[in-house]
Amino acid sequence: MKTTKITAKYVIGFKDGGHHIYEQGELVYRGDTVLFVGHGYQGQVDETLAMGNALVGPGFIDLDAVADLDSTVLAFDHQPGWKKGRLPASDWQRRETYSDAELDFNKRYAFSQLLLNGITTIAPITSILYREWAETADEFRRAAEIAASLGVRAYLGPAYMSGYGVVNPDTRVEMRFDEQRGLKGLEEAVRYVEQLHQYGDTIQGMLAPDRIEGCTPELLRQTAKAMRALDCPVRLHSCQGEFEVDMIHELYHGMSSVEFMAEHDLLDSRLLLPHLQLLGGKQPSPEKIQRELALLGQSGASAVICPLVAGRHAKYFNGVSRFREAGINISLGTDTYPPDMIQNMHVGAMLSRVTTGNITEASAADYYNMATLGGARALGREDIGRLCAGAKADIMVFDFDGIHTGQVFDPITNLVINGNGRDIKGVIVNGDKVVWDGRLVKPGLDLQQLHHQAQQQFDGFIASYPERSHRHPPLAEIFPPSFPTSRP
Ligand SMILES: [Zn+2]
Repeated sequence: MKTTKITAKYVIGFKDGGHHIYEQGELVYRGDTVLFVGHGYQGQVDETLAMGNALVGPGFIDLDAVADLDSTVLAFDHQPGWKKGRLPASDWQRRETYSDAELDFNKRYAFSQLLLNGITTIAPITSILYREWAETADEFRRAAEIAASLGVRAYLGPAYMSGYGVVNPDTRVEMRFDEQRGLKGLEEAVRYVEQLHQYGDTIQGMLAPDRIEGCTPELLRQTAKAMRALDCPVRLHSCQGEFEVDMIHELYHGMSSVEFMAEHDLLDSRLLLPHLQLLGGKQPSPEKIQRELALLGQSGASAVICPLVAGRHAKYFNGVSRFREAGINISLGTDTYPPDMIQNMHVGAMLSRVTTGNITEASAADYYNMATLGGARALGREDIGRLCAGAKADIMVFDFDGIHTGQVFDPITNLVINGNGRDIKGVIVNGDKVVWDGRLVKPGLDLQQLHHQAQQQFDGFIASYPERSHRHPPLAEIFPPSFPTSRP
């Protein structure tokens, strides 16, 4: 096994329970494991990588990582969602929009983008809007191969659901349920997780019920049971938007989403909760929100907040200090394109300050902790999201020689406020170099070719919107251009 030493102007180690900045630091790892972080390593090494004016830190952990060609970007300037294909029309005959090969390509493309952004651990998500139903175990068997071939650490499980929302021609929205199909999806997902062990540590299982309003009480109860039997994470989108809050209220006698999860035994330290923006249900009161914070805190469940996608949709998470007081762990997800964790930290810090009217509500270090230690805690792991002896060698190298990175006064603050994912020049996962000099290392991956094919597939995907959209208008009406457009 090779022993590698990395040196850099800043090495972010882990000491006394938190991150620690080693100036002119050294990081040594052998195989997949970190041996040493600090100064003056005395042991033998086989190679030394001198990174110079750079920050070497733990790879980021992304618990809502788009494994898709992102479709939420289409909603940035095209609203309301129910008119623009964000909810399928009730007369749409559900079908697969992408072929298997295209679905696989989307994952290969998305996983590469995540790695290029310094994200070393992912819990992927795709949209089920354009699917015949939800995700399938077969597709995820292939996803495991793709993740393993690219070298990303992944928590995988096919999304399942008992129902989905539709919009009727008269604009009424409603849920359509098929409980048996949901339970079958869970069964398949459980079998999938049980069979994943062949990949070793880097590919792990996760249960991924698609979103809370699409889960019947029975599906939630069975998911909670399976979570405990498999001892694996469960990720469930909740407290995300008004449609969800209204539906849960209407279907379950005025309950809020947190109450609904508590009622069916899902609140647990293995539970990952994107986006947790709307606590307290349809009629929130300070007391009700406090009660929900206490419930979440006692359970050990983790928030997964996704600032960029939230801000783009006029949403925000304003709970950094309140969640901390309640003992709720906060982790991050990128959840949109670009999958740029650094941009998410920056936007997150700004939204936290703006929405609380308090400039000290959240610091760059707070968000850096969420992207690393918070993600690790959410996954119940003490060997990722940090660099110290015994941790996994999951590493990202941020380049401070880029002329746009400005003047450094604090490497973490400057990374967050001046940097972005494009400044990451090296990524190592489990001791394996996967991105170097800004390029993918694994053979057979040509970034230009991925970029080109992704455009072609996305063009085809956009063309499928009229069939799913309310009253089926032509494409130009669903997504009119920003300005009148002429073509030769
Ligand atoms: Zn999400």
